[in-house]
Amino acid sequence: MKAVVIPERNTITVQDVELAPPKAGEVKVKMAAVGVCHSDLSVINGTIPAPTPLVVGHEGAGVVEEIGDGVTNVKPGDHVVLSFVPFCKKCYFCKRGQPFLCEAAGPLNMARQMDGTSRVTLNGEEIGVMCGLGCMAPYAVVPDISIVPIDKSISLQAAALVGCGVTTGVGAALNTAEVEPGSNVAVFGCGGVGISAIQGARVAGAKQIIAVDLDTAKLDMAKQFGATDGLVADENVVKSIRALTDGKGVDYAFEAIGIGSVMETASAATRAGGTTVLVGIGKRKDSMSVNAFSFPLMAKKLCGCMYGSANPPEDFPRMLGLYQEGKLDLDNMITKTYTIDEAQQAFDDLESGKNARGVIVFD
Ligand SMILES: [Zn+2]
Ligand SMILES: [Zn+2]
Repeated sequence: MKAVVIPERNTITVQDVELAPPKAGEVKVKMAAVGVCHSDLSVINGTIPAPTPLVVGHEGAGVVEEIGDGVTNVKPGDHVVLSFVPFCKKCYFCKRGQPFLCEAAGPLNMARQMDGTSRVTLNGEEIGVMCGLGCMAPYAVVPDISIVPIDKSISLQAAALVGCGVTTGVGAALNTAEVEPGSNVAVFGCGGVGISAIQGARVAGAKQIIAVDLDTAKLDMAKQFGATDGLVADENVVKSIRALTDGKGVDYAFEAIGIGSVMETASAATRAGGTTVLVGIGKRKDSMSVNAFSFPLMAKKLCGCMYGSANPPEDFPRMLGLYQEGKLDLDNMITKTYTIDEAQQAFDDLESGKNARGVIVFD
């Protein structure tokens, strides 16, 4: 089968690979749709370290084709969303209701299955699969602790987005920040995750949602998904946000880019006692600082957000329920679809910021 393979950093290829059948605790999925996410790009350019060669893709939905021994949570024919973080239900974090920190992610982050091997080979050599998924291919073999069955009536293209960007952004608002009705919110960065945070804030009943981006086209797009105001990210943006919020700053600010200086701006735009949520993942050597005098005095909260603080088996159906009720607009987030042969174009469009989400679709 064809797969989007990264032979080395900064190189995207579509190559023929072999896929072995699922072993115990694994599931073979016929992919229907796979989102093109910034984290794929971060793996391609080395911001997120991963061994190459590697099949990318971690935001996907499809239909179960075959199950390995001992798999009980899905059966052939089930429609499923893949989770890029597993939920083993046994580790320290899973037992404490924080599966987004599941310790079983270790081998998967090394781009292997739970047993440390891979089902994908290229020219006879075993190669890695991003997050243990590597679903930018017509089929993927994945761990059963990384897969959630969903209602068969739901569009698999829309469902794919829930595997990463939507759960991250909507979860940041609903789970991490627990945005309260009537509050005001600023979202820095209006890509797929930022748009999802805007939608999450809207679902939570925020009365004012200020979108911030360098690109005015993205601000216009943000308004289609619930932003009430759009601000170009210039040196006056904190002043502008205060001007829109009675001089106080927002109750909740979300940083959905992953740049230390923007994280500082987001915190500066947060009111005293308010909450800044860091969603974007930046470079290892980048950092932010807080003022040792004013930060405690202003009683601000600052928290990291991994995968929207989600519990996938509960949150995926919850997000898709909101979609079915018309409260989350996933269909219009899919700006463009691509075939697997158009993968390079899909990543070029991601880098140029053209799409809310690009999605690679399979027959
Ligand atoms: Zn776990
Ligand atoms: Zn992603």
